Amino acid sequence: MPIKFSKNNLLFVALFAGGIVLPTAILSFLSFRNIQNEIFLAQKTFDENRTSFQKEVEEAIAKEQEKIYQETKAASLFLYEQPRSLLEFGNATAFKDVNGIEAIFLYNDGKLIYPDISSRYFYKTAEFSDAVASPIEQQLFQEEQQSLQDNASFIARSMRMLHSPFETKNEQVQNILGLTRLAYKSQNYPEALKLLKVLEQHPHLQGYLHADLTRSVNLLHFEILVKQKKHQEAEDYCLEVLNQFLQSEHIENIASARFFFEEAFTQILSFEDLSQEKREAFWNLRSNFNHQLGYTNILAKYKDQFIELMDNEYMSKDGILYRSEGNTTLFKMSYPQLSGNQIVIAKIDNENYQNRLLDRVKSVSRSWKNIPYTIINENNDILMGAVPDSASVLTQVRISDAFNWEFTLYEKDVKEIRNESRQRMFLMYGLLSFSLITVILGSFFMLRFISQEHKLLAMKANFLSSVSHELKTPLTSIKMFAEMMARGRVQKTEKVQEYSGLIGKEATRLENLIGAILNYTRMEHGTGAFKWEKLDFSICVQKVFDAVEDIGVEKGLSFHTHFAPNVFVMGDYTALYSLAQNLIENAIKYTNAPGDITINVYNEENRGVFSVADTGVGIPSSEQKNIFNDFYRVGDEMTRSTKGSGLGLAIVKRVAETHKATISLTSKPGKGSTFTVKFKKVD
Ligand code: ADP
Repeated sequence: MPIKFSKNNLLFVALFAGGIVLPTAILSFLSFRNIQNEIFLAQKTFDENRTSFQKEVEEAIAKEQEKIYQETKAASLFLYEQPRSLLEFGNATAFKDVNGIEAIFLYNDGKLIYPDISSRYFYKTAEFSDAVASPIEQQLFQEEQQSLQDNASFIARSMRMLHSPFETKNEQVQNILGLTRLAYKSQNYPEALKLLKVLEQHPHLQGYLHADLTRSVNLLHFEILVKQKKHQEAEDYCLEVLNQFLQSEHIENIASARFFFEEAFTQILSFEDLSQEKREAFWNLRSNFNHQLGYTNILAKYKDQFIELMDNEYMSKDGILYRSEGNTTLFKMSYPQLSGNQIVIAKIDNENYQNRLLDRVKSVSRSWKNIPYTIINENNDILMGAVPDSASVLTQVRISDAFNWEFTLYEKDVKEIRNESRQRMFLMYGLLSFSLITVILGSFFMLRFISQEHKLLAMKANFLSSVSHELKTPLTSIKMFAEMMARGRVQKTEKVQEYSGLIGKEATRLENLIGAILNYTRMEHGTGAFKWEKLDFSICVQKVFDAVEDIGVEKGLSFHTHFAPNVFVMGDYTALYSLAQNLIENAIKYTNAPGDITINVYNEENRGVFSVADTGVGIPSSEQKNIFNDFYRVGDEMTRSTKGSGLGLAIVKRVAETHKATISLTSKPGKGSTFTVKFKKVD
């Protein structure tokens, strides 16, 4: 259909084209031109990016290491302030851990001052090893352990020994132990304690009992105190043993010492009557002591490395010196802030240290995607990144002081760059085309909408003028005949009859026309005005047929009808009447004589069917969807010479819609049309 524009529409179109379409087109053009430079730009950007990336990775690693050094320093300061003697445990504070560092050793003027106990063992005993038990001690220890399972025989033996004179010190020890166990079993705690004291006070501690057995005796003693609920004494005893342990000249079995103290501290911490202050103190003491024991172990294990590091002169004021052996890495750092010459030796915790560095690199690489790089360790394991397919190395640098890591940057394949920019270009092209298409389609639909609105307005105006004309024509005839009769000019009875008949006919025409308009407005206002009832549609159609049959017959048309009984539907009678009337009247109007009109009403499964078929002018398929629109009339000769409002089929469509019925139309120009309406049947 041709689109007609008013002046206003033209202005709108001009603004639309000038304001949206034109700028979009220019923008698209400019963007396309920019994209041409994309590949060149991509290469340049890559060169710049990888330089920045390398710098950032190096900086990230250096920064994280610096952070670890600072934290280590802070932790060692804290060690410096820890009480020198562990027995000032009330002043000991919770231990500070550094993520990535396993142990920290603090030296002052070349002397190890933390961990406290290690310093004693480290310098006083040349050999660091667990004390070796004599065969007699081992036998005693075994028996002591066995007795836990085999009480009866042990007690029997002790009883026997009690009655025979002691021959050796060993026998004596053995016997006292037996007696102690006996007293302990029979819950004679004072007696057991008395015997234990004999063992502890005599030179057995260093002479007869080896380290494990000493701790067993200690533990038994401690447990008896706990059993007797002498909590204060138990605490004192534990501290006394600790004191002895710290003051003893020889290194003992650290594992068994650890076992005793862990047991004792745990029990003390579970005393309900322990004051909050003491609980805190014991808690700190335990963690501090455990750290100290752990550190002492490390020191003993890597003694040579420690000595080598301490002897190494190479050391700037703030310098860091690393030494690695196998999986063990130590570093030495000095800091002159404190009094004297402070030196810290730290053992790094490989996994955590490594993770701290890699996490930093990870967060850097996140903002530098598409740059091929790797970080590999000395075993050639790739820790980060991936080797690209066409790997030509650009730069290779060593990063991290602690590990032998190699950071490699690779040349980017030109193909890859090209692909990437091509992808970006496609995306841009796609987006631009999409926005252009959207703007064009939008404009098209907008214009169509505007022209349709415009057309509708024109149709309404046309309708009004044709309706007033339609109303006026019968009115003029009625007026004319009525006046003629009023003036008494019509004398003959036949004439009077003829004129009044004509007046009646014209009045009926008027009535129909007004009826159609009212019907239409009724439909327009919706179903509120409807009266719903169950009715036989055949009867309704029969009524319509009776009213219009004469017009058709007069025109020279033949009717074929079949109205089946009991075609029940739910609906509004007046609305259904006008549906049938419009379809049948149209068939009569748009069929020239001689012609056939077939009207059927029947039941089909669960539907009530009404069809009107004619052999009239037919409707071109391009018009078939339009004829149901309000005021729409086909622009052919036949329609022009036929009176109508363009409302008939609009009413039919609305009635069908409100009754949930379907309408179908088959028509061929020159051959005729068939309208079929299918209703939902009710029983
Ligand atoms: P009108 O008052 O013009 O008849 P309608 O809405 O009833 O208005 O019909 C719309 C147009 O559809 C008509 O102008 C006519 O061109 C066409 N039309 C309707 N029914 C028939 C039919 N049975 N045969 C041919 N053309 C038809």
